[in-house]
Amino acid sequence: VFANVVQAPEDPILGVTVAYNKDPSPAKLNLGVGAYRTEEGKPIVLNVVRKAEQLLVNDPSHLKEYLPILGLADFNKLTAKLILGADSPAVLENRIATAQCLSGTGSLRVGSEFLARHYHQHTIYIPQPTWGNHPKVFTSGGLNVKSYRYYDPTTRGLDLQGLLEDLNAADAGSVVLFHACAHNPTGVDPTPEQWEQIRQLVRSKGLLPFFDSAYQGFASGSLDEDAQSVRMFVADGGECFIAQSYAKNMGLYGERVGALSIIWIFTWFFKPALDWKYWFRHEKKVCKAADVASRVESQLKLVVRPMYSNPPIHGASIVAKVLKDKDLYDEWTAELKGMADRIISMRQQLFDALTARGTPGDWSHIIKQIGMFTFTGLNAEQVSFMRNEYHIYMTSDGRISMAGLSSRTVPHLADAIHAAVTR
Ligand code: PMP
Repeated sequence: VFANVVQAPEDPILGVTVAYNKDPSPAKLNLGVGAYRTEEGKPIVLNVVRKAEQLLVNDPSHLKEYLPILGLADFNKLTAKLILGADSPAVLENRIATAQCLSGTGSLRVGSEFLARHYHQHTIYIPQPTWGNHPKVFTSGGLNVKSYRYYDPTTRGLDLQGLLEDLNAADAGSVVLFHACAHNPTGVDPTPEQWEQIRQLVRSKGLLPFFDSAYQGFASGSLDEDAQSVRMFVADGGECFIAQSYAKNMGLYGERVGALSIIWIFTWFFKPALDWKYWFRHEKKVCKAADVASRVESQLKLVVRPMYSNPPIHGASIVAKVLKDKDLYDEWTAELKGMADRIISMRQQLFDALTARGTPGDWSHIIKQIGMFTFTGLNAEQVSFMRNEYHIYMTSDGRISMAGLSSRTVPHLADAIHAAVTR
């Protein structure tokens, strides 16, 4: 009965690596997949991760039992604080439910199923362009996907006007996906002032923001700075969904560790456990939070249980150890900054190499864009030329992973880009 199953198309991003692996050329270069590589072109496991793993191995209380459906409680608390800040009103007021999920993708997927079951609006607007998996994740999760303008190819920057017009025209209550930082694939993020304009529109239209935070700390090197957009939306007391991933910033790609957080607004009940001064400052708008948390969590469990029962223990235990221990945390932030700085230096080196070759065109976007990727502006035909003639692999939209470059390979890439645009 399965003999007639039709061949599905290769995943457009992972398919790049499949093609790269088949290429016998020693000069080949994979700039397709967004995984960090060292200056030597090697994958790394962070020292801090090795240390945390050692501590776990030596800890007799660290077992391999099932986790609860929503994951490791310590991890959930710490991960919410990491994205929102320890003094976030949403954390202090208990207006948040967090579930450990299968990395960023799993968190987005659980979030969309929850929305499909419990939210009145089933349309989600995603930026154009966006990470290729987004539309599939949300459609599979039961939402209807529409897009909003985001990138302007003529300026290689943000199409703020288009973005605001499209969100203004969205049906009230629609969900809107934002990349918290380091937009993939464009590397173009709104400035804080632009975020503020977007926030005001989102709140005035009653749209529901869903942040995808796959690169916290990886863009600027600072965990706090890369969380500013999310914190701006949470600080206004409104509703928000957040999907976090530890794939990039802790290098835990294959451990599949991430989290979904759901934040809701104040309800007008008095919660006696909170201190009086606090209650007064917040104009008595203190929520009967424990109730909502318990109901939201109970429904999240119903989404997760039939999907994968409960999440894996190892990666979340590593993250919890690192976030809990001041020395490990400091070591992590230093290693994280090292990765972010290397990427920033690759941008400069590539830009300098193209300038030195006199490659036609303005390449300043390479140093202006943020995060792991550069959206080069190369077209599909130029991309395929570079693959055939220079054995350089990237997605057909011209996106290159800066993390896959090194000082040694920059000249090869610059030669290839020069040849592609001067053909
Ligand atoms: N969102 C964005 C924007 C991404 O770039 C990625 C990874 N490429 C993810 C989510 C999900 O990654 P993971 O599931 O590995 O955490």
